[in-house]
Amino acid sequence: MILGTYNPESAASRRELAEHMIAQLESWGFEEGPQAGRERVFVRCLDFRLECRVYTSISGSATRVKDTDAIRVSIIYTGTPPRPLGKSPRVYRKGVIPEIVGRIKERVDELEASVAKLERCHCGAPKFTSGKGNLVCAALCWTRAKPEPEPKPEPRQAAPTRLGPLTPARPAATTTAPEPRTGRRRADAPRGRAW
Ligand SMILES: [Zn+2]
Repeated sequence: MILGTYNPESAASRRELAEHMIAQLESWGFEEGPQAGRERVFVRCLDFRLECRVYTSISGSATRVKDTDAIRVSIIYTGTPPRPLGKSPRVYRKGVIPEIVGRIKERVDELEASVAKLERCHCGAPKFTSGKGNLVCAALCWTRAKPEPEPKPEPRQAAPTRLGPLTPARPAATTTAPEPRTGRRRADAPRGRAW
């Protein structure tokens, strides 16, 4: 199929733009995220709680009718609180469909390149320029007593503790726990498990 000039008055054309845009976004590694109202949003994760979002102007399976609706691309810091760190000029839906979608890619590339240049806080979060014009940590880490913990890696399986040959009991001198319990637990303990 040859994709022609986008025509907002044609339902078929609005579907074509939507289909081509989604296919291309997916080929660039975007996945569909939560909708913004009824608008479909596609997301690509970048490093350290940053994601690139494309607000597609697609509702259902076609772009919205309104001619003034534009496609927007922005970079969001997804920590607490989430905040936009940058947005690109709007992509207007004018011209040949593959070219409209090509302009989305240009905006994505520009924004993602700008992320690489963001200054980083010692906590790892990117910095942004506040309303007062100061460069501040997006995680607002100085307002917290403790920095927000990083997601923990999968708990490692407890290494099996090798049990020596079973002996009746430990030397009683250092033990303060009630003796009978300790003894029973040890006897019942499954093989290879610490107790
Ligand atoms: Zn910080």
